[in-house]
Amino acid sequence: AQKKKMSLTGRIVLGMVMGILTGFAIRSLFAETSFVYEYIVNGLFNVGGSIFIASLQMLVVPLVFVSLVCGTSTLKDISTLGRLGGKTLAFYITTTAIAITLALVMGNVFQPGAGADLAAASNFASKEAPSLGQVIINMFPTNPINSMAQGNTLQIIVFAILFGIAISAAGKPGERIASVFADLNDVIMKLVALLMNIAPFGVFFLMARLFTGLGLDAIFNLFGYFLVLSCTLLLHGFVVYGTLFKVFTGLSPKIFLKKMEDAIMFAFSTASSNATIPVTMETATKRLGVKNRIASFTVPLGATINMDGTAIMQGVATAFIAQAFNIDLTMGDYLMVIATATLASVGTAGVPGVGLIMLAMVLNQVGLPVEGIAIIMGVDRLLDMIRTAVNITGDSCVTCIVAKTEGELDEECFNDPHAGEKEE
Ligand code: ASP
Repeated sequence: AQKKKMSLTGRIVLGMVMGILTGFAIRSLFAETSFVYEYIVNGLFNVGGSIFIASLQMLVVPLVFVSLVCGTSTLKDISTLGRLGGKTLAFYITTTAIAITLALVMGNVFQPGAGADLAAASNFASKEAPSLGQVIINMFPTNPINSMAQGNTLQIIVFAILFGIAISAAGKPGERIASVFADLNDVIMKLVALLMNIAPFGVFFLMARLFTGLGLDAIFNLFGYFLVLSCTLLLHGFVVYGTLFKVFTGLSPKIFLKKMEDAIMFAFSTASSNATIPVTMETATKRLGVKNRIASFTVPLGATINMDGTAIMQGVATAFIAQAFNIDLTMGDYLMVIATATLASVGTAGVPGVGLIMLAMVLNQVGLPVEGIAIIMGVDRLLDMIRTAVNITGDSCVTCIVAKTEGELDEECFNDPHAGEKEE
């Protein structure tokens, strides 16, 4: 009899676990100067992992543009678009505000930084948080090709929406172009599906390289911070999203989370919401049953402006640093933290480590020492992986909610455990 082959998800998990174990093994068996580091870690693992990330990123711009043009060109009228945009923004901003509030509460209840005697020197340069006006101006491209070349998602979104609207208003020529885009979209989604097949290897390389260099001793020193932050992330991921999902869609949050597994693993291993867009999109449309017309808008938008996991990190980190440096924050400061963190998350794209830069803005805003960042930097990579997984789960949760309220969620597909599953 033929042996049943493992599902893609199973293979990705296997790749991840093997990668982590390999990383630990190399770390404990070989010196950093040995040939293993030179040829295997910095050679093979680095090359394999970088190619994997590049191949994901390669798809982001064409995918976002093409699928969003498709999505907007099939919208019935402009008012639908306005309603859709308003609803999506409202959910994204509300979930981010909940996230950071939860984080500030947890950070103050559990006091991870109390008694920590910390002094650190750092040359971490901080930037000003962008003003709301600047954030809005930056959304409008002067040259759409340039926006694509730079991978500026917000600008691509604005151009794609306008282009899609023009297509639907342009009569016969519009119909012809729309059908080209529909075909292009199918082809690109096929490419996503093909590339996902190399994911088990890509994830293996990424994890093996990362865990070879990951000093876990830093975690022991910052155990309180690490624990409070990861618990808050999990709490938000399971409880807050689970509740919102149940309340607004009436569907099972368990099925939702189960179907998110591939996307979550991609987010975890790449630590980039942006690079995960192709997989989040595929999950939303093929597995969760969201129509492309919704997902093509909400997913890339979410990857750029909705970062609940990152907001949680800012909240806990702010509380931690304030406690560690014995600085009292007022209620006004806390409100300032909420506002700055939310705004900063709109203006920064989801790529690895960007959370730290945003944290610098937040600290600056309330007058906390930016040096504090040097303290938590040591454990940030691992936390970045977890919070990126939360970020994209939030994007997908809002995507489903918006789709459901717009009547664009295929419940049969949602409830079918094997929908869109890649097998054998
Ligand atoms: N890596 C995160 C993301 O891509 C952002 C961050 O928190 O650094 O969503």
